[in-house]
Amino acid sequence: NDSMMVDSNNTSTTTTTTGSGAGRIEEIRSVKSQRVAAHSHIKGLGLSEDGSAILVKDGLVGQVKAREASGIVSELIKSKKMAGKALLLAGPPGTGKTALALAISQELGPKVPFCPMVGSEVYSSEVKKTEILMENFRRSIGLRVKEIKEVYEGEVTEITPEETDNPLGGYGKTISQVVVGLKTTKGTKQLKLDPVIYESIQKEKISVGDVVYIEAVSGSVKRVGRSDFYATEHDLEVEEYVPLPKGEVFKKKEIIQDVTLHDLDLANAKPQGGQDIMSMMGQMMKPKKTEITEKLRLEINKIVNKYIEQGVAELIPGVLFIDEVHMLDIECFSYLNKALESTLAPIVIFATNRGNCVIKGTADIQSPHGIPVDLLDRLMIIRTLPYSFNEMVQILTIRATIEQHKIDETSLTYLAEIGNNTSLRYAIQLLTPSSILSKTNGRSSITKEDIEEIHSLFSDAKTSAKLLEKNKSKYLY
Ligand code: ATP
Repeated sequence: NDSMMVDSNNTSTTTTTTGSGAGRIEEIRSVKSQRVAAHSHIKGLGLSEDGSAILVKDGLVGQVKAREASGIVSELIKSKKMAGKALLLAGPPGTGKTALALAISQELGPKVPFCPMVGSEVYSSEVKKTEILMENFRRSIGLRVKEIKEVYEGEVTEITPEETDNPLGGYGKTISQVVVGLKTTKGTKQLKLDPVIYESIQKEKISVGDVVYIEAVSGSVKRVGRSDFYATEHDLEVEEYVPLPKGEVFKKKEIIQDVTLHDLDLANAKPQGGQDIMSMMGQMMKPKKTEITEKLRLEINKIVNKYIEQGVAELIPGVLFIDEVHMLDIECFSYLNKALESTLAPIVIFATNRGNCVIKGTADIQSPHGIPVDLLDRLMIIRTLPYSFNEMVQILTIRATIEQHKIDETSLTYLAEIGNNTSLRYAIQLLTPSSILSKTNGRSSITKEDIEEIHSLFSDAKTSAKLLEKNKSKYLY
């Protein structure tokens, strides 16, 4: 195919450009979206300039001390003073621990990855516990890559392959790079191509005298194509190949991409082509998943560190939120203790609603929140407290609005009473079924009767536990 654009990865898809990187972090968010959806009303910690909590702001209601403490933590994170430490949110169920973790990540900015997981996620029959933890660690570390992309158009004046001794020690020479001369209206330029691109040039039968497009990223040539071709229907960057205005022979553009270390691991699990960041990103388009090994991660860390040193990339530690941390076992805890010390560690926020309990994986070692004392020692702990009746009404009002349910004041008060006797989460969960019931009955607004009926059909955790206790003789075991 004479008109085919070629790239260093030899794929029909292309390297990604401006803005698409933001989508990477978004994707992670969406993978875990169910857990975040319940908190869609949370926009931040709702603090004033002096760090004091405004009673109702940014979707958060009450929980003043915990919010102010979270504000201090997010300042520590911003000023990079949280290294090696982690945060523990401890409090009864439904007191806003997840909501606060999310609010902290929002305070840190939209480009900061937020990766929520539940302690029990580490138990899989196929994957090691520490592997799952490490994967989530790397999902929570962002990398912002700034590169300069240049596009040239001009006539090829020379193609000079440069040979070196075979690096494997065999006979003969190998082509280490190729110099291509390009005559543009702004003068003549020499560009260095790597051998993979040279192969493509040969395949495309590009020779001296042809007019070509050359795309380079941070000084390294990515693609060479004939000028009479601008896009195929598979080409993701169609606009890129629209002919440049007459007289303009090359343009420069800064590309900023936000990816996570896990994106890079995935993209390189089956490496092809160059080992630079743009090639890594190009490979992210390949859906086939292969194993990510420790060795691969070390290699990627090396490249990432090199790019950071060169000022091309910037590390953006995000938030790894581990809910129900008491579900982790002693092996996970010792792994975490070590991982927290790494320079490539995210900010870890743990949450638990447990008091003193046995550390999982030990016979009978009791510890506060089921967390070993050596890990507890590095944690900053924030307590969340149960809500007052008025706070419940306000939270329920916000949730009803965000979920677009119409509900009158009497019904809201009734729902808050239920929440007071059961839990906030249970009360929030009654909203959607009550709304469906009201619509089935031809009404557009939820009434107290709708809530009563739904409440009679379902049990909250406390009621269910009481019923079990009362009727225990009727159950097995
Ligand atoms: P669990 O221990 O069961 O995991 P939790 O403490 O993490 O509970 P959340 O999931 O954060 O509780 O809270 C339950 C629901 O109430 C969520 O929809 C959350 O967004 C909302 N919520 C909790 N606290 C607040 C608050 N202070 N302001 C606004 N909404 C809140």
